[in-house]
Amino acid sequence: MPITKSKFSSLLFAAAFVSFATTSCKKTDVAAPVEENSAAQIEELRQFIITTTGEDNVTYSASAKDFVIANDANMSVADAKAYLAKSKSGQIEAGNASTEGIQHRRSYYAVAPTKAVAIKIYANSTVPAVWMAALDQAIANWNASGSLLSITRVSAPGTNVMNVTGINNGGTGVIATTYYPDYNSNVGKSCTINTYYNYLSAGQQIFAMTHELGHAFGFGHTNSTYGTLVPGSPNTDGNSIMNSVCLNWSAFTAYDLAAIRTVYPK
Ligand SMILES: [Zn+2]
Repeated sequence: MPITKSKFSSLLFAAAFVSFATTSCKKTDVAAPVEENSAAQIEELRQFIITTTGEDNVTYSASAKDFVIANDANMSVADAKAYLAKSKSGQIEAGNASTEGIQHRRSYYAVAPTKAVAIKIYANSTVPAVWMAALDQAIANWNASGSLLSITRVSAPGTNVMNVTGINNGGTGVIATTYYPDYNSNVGKSCTINTYYNYLSAGQQIFAMTHELGHAFGFGHTNSTYGTLVPGSPNTDGNSIMNSVCLNWSAFTAYDLAAIRTVYPK
């Protein structure tokens, strides 16, 4: 699914292929060399993500072939393309865009119910012990959310197993970044923890990991403006786990739980 070939090598390949096709002078059924991700295409995808997440801070990383959504969530170009194609063919329901304030909203980024009941997470040895403990508590938090979600930490990586790693990205980096569910509605493929923040309190680390898992399950920031309003949600919920401010973990708010149970009903 991720495009592994570098843009440079695939362009070289395309150029060589076209020159062969020209000299062999056969039928012109060889597709014109199209740049893998043109600037216009990237911008179309970026605007699509802005519209469908309600986040206006969406940037593109050419080196990673990733979009970074509100600093701490990611979507690969391949997934964005697939989501956009689904949207254009009417397979995705449009949400209700809103300019109102802090609300719990659901978008169409979610793990399929058949997969939500058996989510697997693998954390390798780059994850420091303090973060491993926070991850385990975050998993326990979600498992106790009264929703369909059932998550286990497993001891080996594998297909559709979410991968958690640690790397020191320094004090200018965010605490962690996590992928949204992919276009086959699998859990987000990975979470990267910035080990610069090993010094945070245990409560903050648990909050951060619980928040990041929320992205992997398809939840955006509570103050985003896209999606269908979860019934009964208030205009403000300052302690929501999906606010983009790292608090100390105490519990999901009542409206967090309403949102989680609406998206993942038992
Ligand atoms: Zn976030």
